[in-house]
Amino acid sequence: MKGFTHARLACGCRVSFREGEGGSPVTVVIDVKSPVCTVPIHVRALPLFDYREALRPATRPLPLEEEEFEEEG
Ligand SMILES: [Zn+2]
Repeated sequence: MKGFTHARLACGCRVSFREGEGGSPVTVVIDVKSPVCTVPIHVRALPLFDYREALRPATRPLPLEEEEFEEEG
């Protein structure tokens, strides 16, 4: 993999990136659990599967702004 392999989350946890499996481009694993982290899914050595969701492209187009504010009558 290119680029950075570690990152620190806002909660204080440190994560590492690994090559993903099953079509996922990357797997994020909690490397160091922050003592002040309150996120229950952040468990050391467990992958963050929800991160994969965030990497997926949108399944539907963004809603267009409605333009039906023309006043009639
Ligand atoms: Zn955390």
